Amino acid sequence: MTLSVAIVGAGPAAFYTAEALLASGRVKIDVIERLPTPYGLIRAGVAPDHQSTKKVAQKFERMALANAVHFFGNVQLGRDVALAELRAIYDAVVLAIGSPRDCALGIPGEHRRGVYGSSLFVGWYNGHPDFRDLDPIVRGPTAVVIGNGNVALDVARVLVMSEAELAASDIPDYGVETLRRSGIEEVVVVGRRGPAQARFANVELRELLELDECVTLVDPADLPENTAAPIHAGDDRERRLIERNLTLFRQFSRARRDEKRKRLRFRFFRTPVAILGDEAASGLRLETMAWRDGTLVATGRFVEIACQTIITAIGYRCEAIPDLPFDPARGLIASDDGRIEPGLYVVGWAKRGPTGVISSNRPDGEVCAAQILADVTAAARPGRPGLERLLAERGIRAVSFNDWRTIDEAEVSAARAPAPRRKFTTLGEMLAVLNRRLDARDIPDKWEGTA
Ligand SMILES: Cc1cc2nc3c(=O)[nH]c(=O)nc-3n(C[C@H](O)[C@H](O)[C@H](O)COP(=O)(O)OP(=O)(O)OC[C@H]3O[C@@H](n4cnc5c(N)ncnc54)[C@H](O)[C@@H]3O)c2cc1C
Repeated sequence: MTLSVAIVGAGPAAFYTAEALLASGRVKIDVIERLPTPYGLIRAGVAPDHQSTKKVAQKFERMALANAVHFFGNVQLGRDVALAELRAIYDAVVLAIGSPRDCALGIPGEHRRGVYGSSLFVGWYNGHPDFRDLDPIVRGPTAVVIGNGNVALDVARVLVMSEAELAASDIPDYGVETLRRSGIEEVVVVGRRGPAQARFANVELRELLELDECVTLVDPADLPENTAAPIHAGDDRERRLIERNLTLFRQFSRARRDEKRKRLRFRFFRTPVAILGDEAASGLRLETMAWRDGTLVATGRFVEIACQTIITAIGYRCEAIPDLPFDPARGLIASDDGRIEPGLYVVGWAKRGPTGVISSNRPDGEVCAAQILADVTAAARPGRPGLERLLAERGIRAVSFNDWRTIDEAEVSAARAPAPRRKFTTLGEMLAVLNRRLDARDIPDKWEGTA
């Protein structure tokens, strides 16, 4: 008995689920992805200068090439195929659709030009087709990044990259050009709480010391020894991690501002209260926070930073899908540890929210595979031929995994060293490569083809 399982989405959570299901030897898996490219945020989120992190895709490729797995790229749930249709075709359906929307700041002026959520800005510099035409205002001398997690650090680093660092990344040409011309001299990373509460990975913080042209600065007044900030560590390991970060922050606090041409400045204990400006942003107003009796309170004192580019990196939400239970407070698909109901499951960021690293999605896959194998005891649905028939009837050009490899090879072969690849950034370009009409070396500045 071979069960037919559809996994919607082709990010890490999808591949970990496929891995766990394949181990049973009892499933055929179709991975249905809205883009022609697999790997979700590994391609479109992980920073363009973190190519070693992206290598995990090689492991997922081996899975995608397994006989029991088929990739249907360029097929979107909700646009090309309805959930009810997938459920009628497959014995089980797994939603691995991520958490693609930015959380809102909820302050006046948030919608002014020059203010972008990190999902848009990161998608833009990573060549995601949805954001290729974002055309953001990226203008110095000062830009602000709001948030104290690793995504904020990625964005800040990209904003201060040197020519050489940009050239070694896979940021598309339009992004390199915009960043080169930005005139950014200082990026301010703003956090509501202090350095001991920030959620930066130590390795990402340490990397800031190696930037070609940028020195990292912290105001000594924000260090725990100079504030009443408590250090809330769950256990010894967490306390050690916090101490390792604090060692780096102390090092940053001793740096000289003119050591390098650009500056990345952490401003802790500041909460954004308004984006200033008219149609476009011209500044950010922040309220100073302070610890009183173990509680963080607003002081009623305000500071302003003049800036035209503001990126928020304060978390992500999933979109509600019609007819599916949704947890609006947490912005994720509601489930019982991933089981929405027998035959329908959710994994990854759509299940847990935007937390953890790539491998944090592996346990979801294992739990989900066990739930499917317990719930679905008989193969009763047509599976792959059913989907192929439906797509053919609708004239939808699905992209196979071999098609993706053609796109991949074209991108890699078009790269100008030391860049690892030259990304296609529109669906039109990708599909044209498959129709042998375009070589990535000839990507026009502005693609006029169908998207
Ligand atoms: C900016 C950023 C940087 C990061 N950097 C790192 C890092 O350096 N190291 C690390 O370990 N982790 C990093 N992470 C975390 C890591 O990327 C996530 O843990 C992981 O990608 C979540 O996996 P997922 O499969 O749940 O979601 P995603 O990776 O978002 O995959 C979801 C997939 O579903 C597809 N999809 C969505 N809707 C539909 C639909 N309706 N129909 C069909 N397909 C659909 C999407 O196109 C996407 O391919 C980063 C995250 C972000 C946001």
